[in-house]
Amino acid sequence: MRLKGAEVTVLGAGVAGLALARALALQGAEVTVLEQAEAIREVGAGLQITPNGATVLRALGLGPALEAASMRSQGVELRDGLDGDPVLAMDLAKLRPGMGWHLLHRADLIALLADGARAAGVQIRLLQRIEQVDLSGARPRLRSQQGAEFTPALLIGADGLHSPLRAALNGKVAPFFTRQVAWRCVIPCEPGARPVAEVHMGPGRHLVSYPLRGGSLRNIVAVEERNRWVEEGWNTRDDPISLRLAFEPFNPRVRGWLEQAQDVWLWGLFRHPVAEHWGRVLPEGFAAILGDAAHPTLPFLAQGANMALEDAWVLAELLAAHGPGDAALAAYRAARADRCARIVAAANGNARNYHLSSPLRDVAHLALRLGSRIAPAAPLKRFDWLYAHDVTAQRYG
Ligand SMILES: Cc1cc2nc3c(=O)[nH]c(=O)nc-3n(C[C@H](O)[C@H](O)[C@H](O)COP(=O)(O)OP(=O)(O)OC[C@H]3O[C@@H](n4cnc5c(N)ncnc54)[C@H](O)[C@@H]3O)c2cc1C
Repeated sequence: MRLKGAEVTVLGAGVAGLALARALALQGAEVTVLEQAEAIREVGAGLQITPNGATVLRALGLGPALEAASMRSQGVELRDGLDGDPVLAMDLAKLRPGMGWHLLHRADLIALLADGARAAGVQIRLLQRIEQVDLSGARPRLRSQQGAEFTPALLIGADGLHSPLRAALNGKVAPFFTRQVAWRCVIPCEPGARPVAEVHMGPGRHLVSYPLRGGSLRNIVAVEERNRWVEEGWNTRDDPISLRLAFEPFNPRVRGWLEQAQDVWLWGLFRHPVAEHWGRVLPEGFAAILGDAAHPTLPFLAQGANMALEDAWVLAELLAAHGPGDAALAAYRAARADRCARIVAAANGNARNYHLSSPLRDVAHLALRLGSRIAPAAPLKRFDWLYAHDVTAQRYG
């Protein structure tokens, strides 16, 4: 265990940063997380943790906390958004009984990760917005908005979409607007709702919804194609009427949900390339990135947080096995880059498939209906490469 007593600085107390911090602390490292926010809190939205991410939480000893905070998803249902008719159903509980798909509130995931990090001895320092990262010296040099300087030997960037460490490693690359925007909101859930993720697909738009918190809340993410640019970020409010109007042609179930939407947030969906450089070895230091800092993804496969969990496990194992140097960095990139690029590409493809217009849409829906009748297990089997991948079962030494 080469991390015993090693001091590690992690930027960002999101999914990636907190999971990595706990993983490193459990390997004996002294971990400090620098977070820009004044408190550990999360936006009101749901999240799906799929089996590939859930195995990491379990391996980190957070399985019981995950079970307590989430609902086990029984299935995924694709529906024709206009009439609400089923197109394809994947019965997860029946087809993969041993594997866990979890529906939970982002705030609950962050809370259980933060508790887990603190319990392992991690220090979380709030109000530390890092504005400059310099990798030209012997060690990484950081400067915060408040003017504090840090020169950690071991620096890990889990600082999300606009990561300054990613920019220091890769240069700045402007993402491009996908001409899609997404609304999100949480509404009260109808009593007795089944824990399934419903995807309602219509021409140029789709809406995903599932229950949260024991069925007391319902999460909604609604995506529309449009030319007008919208900022990338989670902090833009929108009028619920815009959301209702965009989905006015949809079936009464969807319209009924949107009638209840009050606090609605809108963000522009941008595509970023997967980072070319995932880290650097310095004369007396080491820097690496993970999560959205390395490979931001569109939300159409619900994998951003799951990839972040996988990254955290792999990076902590490799640092413990090889120490912070070239071997760990090369093995980290080799283990992660192609897989993450494949996941990001699959998420990009889902947007196209969900938004088809007639006549292509009618043909595609018919094919899906027939296909799932003949071979109901086939649609899920196509994703075994994604969900059955268990980074905790591999050896990194
Ligand atoms: C609507 C929506 C739905 C989604 N649904 C799913 C889903 O169902 N399943 C799934 O797996 N993924 C989902 N995702 C993606 C997922 O939320 C992200 O991929 C995931 O949160 C990435 O984690 P991260 O830790 O890399 O980044 P973040 O969660 O963004 O965390 C980054 C942290 O770093 C901090 N930070 C940033 N810059 C600085 C700085 N300069 N200095 C200090 N601190 C800084 C931030 O405040 C933040 O706390 C969804 C995303 C969206 C937008």
